[in-house]
Amino acid sequence: MSHRPHDHSATRVVHAGRDPRRFLGVVNTPVFRASTILFPTLADLERASRGEYDGLTYGLHGLPTVRDLQAALAEIEGGDAALMVPSGLAATTFPLLALANPGDHVLVTDSVYGPTRRFCENHLRRLGIEVDYYDPLIGSGIERVLKPNTRIVFTESPGSLTFEVQDLRAISDAAHARGAVVVLDNTWATPLGFRSFDHGVDVSVHAATKYIGGHSDVLLGAIVANARTFPALSRLWTDTGVTPSPDDCFLALRGLRTLAVRLERHQASALRIAQWLKARPEVDEVLYPALPGARGHEIWKRDFAMASGLFGVVLKPVATSRLAAMLDGMRLFGMGWSWGGFESLMIPTWPERVRSATRWQSAGPCVRLHIGLEDADDLIADLADGFARMSA
Ligand SMILES: *Cc1c(COP(=O)(O)O)cnc(C)c1O
Repeated sequence: MSHRPHDHSATRVVHAGRDPRRFLGVVNTPVFRASTILFPTLADLERASRGEYDGLTYGLHGLPTVRDLQAALAEIEGGDAALMVPSGLAATTFPLLALANPGDHVLVTDSVYGPTRRFCENHLRRLGIEVDYYDPLIGSGIERVLKPNTRIVFTESPGSLTFEVQDLRAISDAAHARGAVVVLDNTWATPLGFRSFDHGVDVSVHAATKYIGGHSDVLLGAIVANARTFPALSRLWTDTGVTPSPDDCFLALRGLRTLAVRLERHQASALRIAQWLKARPEVDEVLYPALPGARGHEIWKRDFAMASGLFGVVLKPVATSRLAAMLDGMRLFGMGWSWGGFESLMIPTWPERVRSATRWQSAGPCVRLHIGLEDADDLIADLADGFARMSA
């Protein structure tokens, strides 16, 4: 169902970061809970204090459950190494802190995840780091807004709420020519949908809370980096003590093993439902790059191996009370934040509230759908009933 040649990605998600021989044959790396790790000799402890010890040193520095997840995600996406942090938001903000210094300039896509923007406004500026936002569709035009002190170009593709697909190759070529690094929030596509490091990305961050965890029961972030950026990221990770709990990493590893099959189903159902929605009289536009004819479809087709099940819908103008009649009565679609779990979700969104470099204008209200693993026919029936309540 992917239009890409066979790339072994389903095999990689099953086997990466897993070696049952280390754990008495146990298939999954167990949950290792530890603060203290005992050293056999003084010489070993001394080596550990110099950072020259091969074994485990202290719970905070990484336990097998955490390390195996990091190794798996680095291998699957094609980065050099990965770091886990306690939330997706910690993952998006961490590279900004680790890689930019006072006096530096950071460029951030106008379609960025709202809380990442809030971090830039409240904290990068406070640290004396300049922030500008740019049109997500800028492509090679990024050249015109890069400054001599631009250190980071922060991208997110497709963008939060509005799903613009960014031309990562054009952006990273221009950024690298000026000495800047490219950070990508790759949560939507996951490492299976977009192989960041093949497109010039230096740091790929993920809310593992979403598809990697996959079951709406864990908060976790991943930072996958190349050799150029990893040392600075790793230093800040060690110095700030933000290692997540081994229990959460266990859940993410468990989720990861089924990521390929879940995504296939999310994508297949989302495509069907997006097509169905596009033909509805209540719908003005479907914002789903995987849908032929949708905005961003050409670049998506060129660069992505697959899509996930999250997309936006612009409705024709309709009163809020009518939208409420639809949303309040959904049987299968839940109304709540986050996404990437097995269940379907539907929420209203207000993209125009989180823009500064561009303007977002739409005919009617915007909603965002996460298509879960239910039968697509049942989801379509739920939506059809919803539209009937809306028009009643
Ligand atoms: C949800 C999300 C995050 C943050 O993840 P949390 O684990 O909820 O902090 C970051 N980026 C994007 C694109 C997201 O959708």
